[in-house]
Amino acid sequence: MSNSQSAAVLDRRGFLSAASLFALGAPTLAAAAADPYAASPFRKLGDAEWRKRLPDASYLVLRHEDTERPGSSPLLKEHRKGSFACLGCDLALFTSDTKYESGTGWPSFFRAVPGALATKVDFKIGVPRKEYHCARCLGHQGHLFDDGPKPTGLRYCNNGLALKFIPA
Ligand SMILES: [Zn+2]
Repeated sequence: MSNSQSAAVLDRRGFLSAASLFALGAPTLAAAAADPYAASPFRKLGDAEWRKRLPDASYLVLRHEDTERPGSSPLLKEHRKGSFACLGCDLALFTSDTKYESGTGWPSFFRAVPGALATKVDFKIGVPRKEYHCARCLGHQGHLFDDGPKPTGLRYCNNGLALKFIPA
């Protein structure tokens, strides 16, 4: 059930933020509702395979929802133009023009690349939080909050260990 709920959240956000794309004849909501990455080879990798592919700390974040120590990510100081991709599968999740200084100690973004993330609710700290993960490999990235800057008001609070920066 949580999968269909996350898809609904993602579709609504994708539709709102990509209204102009839809006006230009991009795929319909119905088409977007189908999981475009369902057949991805990344979905077939088992836990042991992920452990081999990833550095230990990144493996724990991406595959077991660990959280890196705040202030520890080199990406906090990354200000070049480019994109931030999932370390698990290279899918571009954020672009540099949506990164901002949140003061939290984690790389923060106010908008994701449309269709790149899916969400679910977790209760790891006892209260509901909106967890988000890579839409392709399902690797955990961070949590989504509604105290971000304009124009979205969103804060994607991301683990730097789950990302790789690709300069433009
Ligand atoms: Zn991924």
